[in-house]
Amino acid sequence: MVNLASAVTTAKRNEAKTVLSQAPQALSIPSYWEIAIMIHDSAPDQEGPALISRPGRMRIPFTRGLKHENHVGLLPTEGWRKRNLQFIGDILIPTILAPRKPKREINGVPLAQSDQIGVTWLGHAGFFGQIAGVNLIIDPNWALWHGPVKRIRHPSLWASDLPPLDLVLITHAHFDHLHLPSLRRIARGQPIIVPQGVGSVVKRCGFGQIVELETWGQAQFKDLKMTLTPARHWGARMIHDTHRGFGGYLIEGPERTLFHCGDSSMFEGFQEIGQRARIDVALMPIGAYDAPSGRPVHMNPEEALDAFAMLGADYMIPMHHETFPLGSEPIHEPAERLAYEAAQRHLEDRVRILHEGETALF
Ligand SMILES: [Zn+2]
Repeated sequence: MVNLASAVTTAKRNEAKTVLSQAPQALSIPSYWEIAIMIHDSAPDQEGPALISRPGRMRIPFTRGLKHENHVGLLPTEGWRKRNLQFIGDILIPTILAPRKPKREINGVPLAQSDQIGVTWLGHAGFFGQIAGVNLIIDPNWALWHGPVKRIRHPSLWASDLPPLDLVLITHAHFDHLHLPSLRRIARGQPIIVPQGVGSVVKRCGFGQIVELETWGQAQFKDLKMTLTPARHWGARMIHDTHRGFGGYLIEGPERTLFHCGDSSMFEGFQEIGQRARIDVALMPIGAYDAPSGRPVHMNPEEALDAFAMLGADYMIPMHHETFPLGSEPIHEPAERLAYEAAQRHLEDRVRILHEGETALF
């Protein structure tokens, strides 16, 4: 386990460089708009100074070779050219032409009591979290554009609207989750936790410590224990950099536990994650399921509810919807489908669909 308080001295003593394991590369053919996003927001990718990183090993062996098994290749399925054109004509261009919706009026961020979890949705996969006296932020993204992909609403809460941030977590290096200008905006020397192989992307942002975690690796910050959980997705920021890790986070305080799923399609791993911790609140992605590439890398709302059940969590808050149009489904469809299906399953009281900028206390 990495103890962030002692990581600086540990790193100075060892001056160890993170070894980046090179996974076999999949044939990589991203769609037109994915390439456009890459061009828009490219990042330096040289090996930087020694990272303050000592990934912990999982205590419960996960024997099925998760990283390899759950890494989705970049090859699109048959018919992707037609689906790309449909996506551009039906979703992308209409969004570009439509005026961006105004921000929601938010009266500040309610502060959580020490025994509460506070969760504030910042749009897309971004959350401000309050747990065990720590203010943290996960996958913040205040971009108005990702290449031709337009944010449909002005952000309701900006970085300056949030309480001071103690800790930053990034689930993976995709542009909609790791947005460098947003990270530079919040970096004040605090630590950042990223999956293995992602540290080089954030090294010049202004964070005091960069901690890379392997799947099931752990880091300690004050009373919080963070565990990088598996996901079925992929981690390459561009095309060739398939060595980068990806996942979600279990964030465990002495009394309460928060889970951020990251990006994932449905897989058995949710059961294993649920066995690792008693989860109070699960932040689950529900959008971009109708991907132009046809690749199974995201869940639809029904699958997200299945995953929520597998996790055994008390409450679910959806994310990855109504912010950036990344799938061919209508932008409001994920939340509508989720509300309908939650009612069908009698989960209305346990599934909280937040407006952007809204805070829920548990
Ligand atoms: Zn992703």
